[in-house]
Amino acid sequence: MIIKSFAPSPLTTGLQALVNRLQPTHPQYHQLQQELKNKEAGDYGEQYVMKELQQIALLNDCYILHNVTLPSVLPMQIDILLIVPNAIILLEIKNIRGIVHFKNDPRQLIRTSDSGEVHVFTHPEVQLEQYMQGVKHFFNTQQVSIPIYGAVVFPFNNVNIHREDGRLPIIMAKELPIFLHKHLETSKETKTMADIKNIILSHLKHRTPFPLCTYYQIDASALQRGVYCENCGRFGMQKLRMTWHCQSCKFISKNAHIRALLDYYMLVGDTITNRNCREFLNVESQYVAKRLLQKLNLSSTGPDRIRKYHLSSIYWNSPQKE
Ligand SMILES: [Zn+2]
Repeated sequence: MIIKSFAPSPLTTGLQALVNRLQPTHPQYHQLQQELKNKEAGDYGEQYVMKELQQIALLNDCYILHNVTLPSVLPMQIDILLIVPNAIILLEIKNIRGIVHFKNDPRQLIRTSDSGEVHVFTHPEVQLEQYMQGVKHFFNTQQVSIPIYGAVVFPFNNVNIHREDGRLPIIMAKELPIFLHKHLETSKETKTMADIKNIILSHLKHRTPFPLCTYYQIDASALQRGVYCENCGRFGMQKLRMTWHCQSCKFISKNAHIRALLDYYMLVGDTITNRNCREFLNVESQYVAKRLLQKLNLSSTGPDRIRKYHLSSIYWNSPQKE
């Protein structure tokens, strides 16, 4: 049973907006575009494994959560967390293609792509061990003692894996039923499953890397301004009395500015003034900008002329949010 379903990571959604609003001539454009591709592949792998888990009848009464961060002394971002009878299982999903070599001493993951390029990654075991420690520490603070297991999962057979001795299981997604069966066999059901679920749900942390211009040290003035046409992909929709109008494809939208303000939140900052709003949306009239912002029922602070509107509710109410 899925109790926290798949959603793209906030960094993927933010990078999509960033790459969309940067000129291809920007010095960081190609690096960011590559990072976006990697993030999208990662998300795709996680989504695939979530679907696979949903098919496993063995897990019908267990709880499945995507993307879990709990309060912890160690950084934590668990791809998938399973609550099974008397145990917690963490899955670290790696959607990497090519030839990968798990190297010990020091532990590194080295990938050679089809074109022969070599990339070095953090060893997923190191990440997973850190998350397992973090979860253990978290449950200690809750006075709960529960075994914690973990596995690194490769979703697809597009990878050729070479491995030296390791401490944690590395498996393919298709092996998940067998892997889970082993853990479910040895566990006896206790009534703790629902308790564990409630503890986790009440302590979930929602972290985002926003604003990305700060995160990647990009000057916000490099961003393409204007309202984006979702129909033809061009910027520069014009504000008519009731709607936005695309001059290129004649598409009409009532709410195209919301997407632009969401971009502003993810890329520039969590508050916006009337002037910022006019500049970013390419709107001339301060009354029009005021009306647009007021209609969104955003919380705001400060006197009228320099009022700051808080944009976070746009993000947390949007379908993109994690
Ligand atoms: Zn258009």
